[in-house]
Amino acid sequence: MVLKAELHCHIEGAAAPELVIQQARKYDKDPSPFIRDGSFVWHDFTSFLAAYDFSADLFRTEEDYALLSEYYLTSLARDGAIYSEVFTSPDHAVRAGLSPKAYTNALGEGMARAKAKTGIEGRMIVTGVRHVGVEAIEKAARFAAKCGHPLVTGFGVAGDERMGDFEDYVRAFEIAREAGLGITIHAGELMGWESVQAALDQIRPARIGHGVRAVENPDLVRRIASEGVVLECCPGSNIALKVFDSFAEHPFATLKAAGCKVTLNSDDPPYFWTSLKREYDIAAQHFGMNDKALAAVTRTAIEAAFVDKKTKAALIARLDKASAR
Ligand SMILES: [Zn+2]
Repeated sequence: MVLKAELHCHIEGAAAPELVIQQARKYDKDPSPFIRDGSFVWHDFTSFLAAYDFSADLFRTEEDYALLSEYYLTSLARDGAIYSEVFTSPDHAVRAGLSPKAYTNALGEGMARAKAKTGIEGRMIVTGVRHVGVEAIEKAARFAAKCGHPLVTGFGVAGDERMGDFEDYVRAFEIAREAGLGITIHAGELMGWESVQAALDQIRPARIGHGVRAVENPDLVRRIASEGVVLECCPGSNIALKVFDSFAEHPFATLKAAGCKVTLNSDDPPYFWTSLKREYDIAAQHFGMNDKALAAVTRTAIEAAFVDKKTKAALIARLDKASAR
């Protein structure tokens, strides 16, 4: 099995249907409008958000969040993943009545449990959400900078790309950068190449969430390649949300051939009927990648990981050992 690593997954969006059903039972809620035959059901953005909010609302206590990250990282490890970064969202915690600190500690506890069982390394990227507003994003950045949790190593901005301008977020990212956190921002998914360019110009991230629509501008693709910015590609998500019509039209292979650093990720896996394993399978089936090429994608992800040098070296050693076999 090819070893895997993931850089782009929203933890609230990673709750498997069977876990959501279990939580619904705990809180006496009816999951049947949102989950059928073990899968999430939705047909447009409104029904997607309804399903997402329904299950996010079933994670309320510290134990719920610990269970969530433990469950997800354990499932990743089962599929051959050795490293996982998840996006966390203090705004969700506050809505559930938990402090950002209690929420982060709980997710960290779940990650520690998964690591004890499987060896998978996990880190957290605190995110602000665009459609919640600039104020909340700066608050999230200040929390990320000050929380001191050893597994919080990055800061990002996610949410509806159609809201707000990149320049609005410069301050938040400066706070995060000064604290030594890794920087990633969603761009070039729902919005075109201009959003990727604006993100590079104004935020100077090490990585871009998605970024795939950079392919619309060859000059920009050359710039991404020469600056070594890493793209967190999520092909299954892109097809589910109709960013591209088919895997044949997905630019993953084009961007890779142009010298861009690309990685494979599941985004909000069960909502897009995917998993990290399926993303690797998609790349094998549709982007012409053999096991060696897939292992190289894992290496790119680990090299781009927001993790300390010692852990990174250990992960690379694990990869090398696996490829030597
Ligand atoms: Zn995302």
